[in-house]
Amino acid sequence: MIGDALRGRRGLVLGVANDRSIAWGITKSLHRAGARLGFTYQGERLERRVRPLVEEVDGDFLVQCDVTSSGEVSALFETVREKWDGLDFLVHCIAFANKEDLEGKFIDTSREGFLLAHDVSAYSLTHLCREAAPLMSDGGSIVTLSYLGGTRAVPGYNVMGVAKASLESSVRYLAHDLGGRGIRVNAISAGPINTLSARGIAGFGEIFAEVEKRAPLKRGVTIEEVGNAAAFLVSPLASGITGEILFVDGGYNVTG
Ligand code: NAP
Repeated sequence: MIGDALRGRRGLVLGVANDRSIAWGITKSLHRAGARLGFTYQGERLERRVRPLVEEVDGDFLVQCDVTSSGEVSALFETVREKWDGLDFLVHCIAFANKEDLEGKFIDTSREGFLLAHDVSAYSLTHLCREAAPLMSDGGSIVTLSYLGGTRAVPGYNVMGVAKASLESSVRYLAHDLGGRGIRVNAISAGPINTLSARGIAGFGEIFAEVEKRAPLKRGVTIEEVGNAAAFLVSPLASGITGEILFVDGGYNVTG
């Protein structure tokens, strides 16, 4: 049992949009395990939705951070320095692509759409790791969220799949760069879950139905199950694991 393995540990969670977000499932697990948490939101509209959730888990702070803004990323870590003077873990649950790039054919992706999806969904992890690492003087753990579309061509997932491939490769390179400082970097490849972002993907319904039919567990996974895996990965229980892509998908990825 993870119990209170994270008692007193300080962690940032990026990507809570509402109570259906994977980041919210992760937050609940981290809170149960005793972690102290700080959060970000992207815009004023989101702040109104996220603030009550942050209060529910006694979050230490909530700050604006659009990950495409270097200034906002720097300001985020300034807040972490002021409030905590250090950081133990960071959970990155952020992705974005233009709606028109998540339907039709991947081949039609525009240069702008390709760059935007990669900037928000992949590069942001590297940027956040670079800023977070100096605060993790006693070692640390970083977790991001991926999907099977990063290694297989899933119709409709398109440019987001290519961005997830970049994200997963970044996890390996970041694990390599930061391992000597005791900082671990891992990804969870989650099965499809009905969140705000997922609803933007054309054909999400069919992807989900296929999982229920073919996954060994014969069902989709919940944000709570992803949350428990993330709490494990950031905890000392996972001290020997880095550069890993851990599937939390009911076993779907192993089926033929
Ligand atoms: P979600 O609730 O919509 O969360 C996505 C988050 O990304 C939102 O909080 C969103 O904020 C944030 N975001 C987008 N652009 C941003 C930017 N420029 N700066 C800062 N934040 C930004 O959806 P979710 O499904 O939980 O997604 C979380 C992660 O899990 C994503 O990486 C996603 O690809 C991954 N994942 C999801 C599934 C699934 O089936 N749902 C499966 C595997 C992996 P705004 O709402 O303000 O844009």
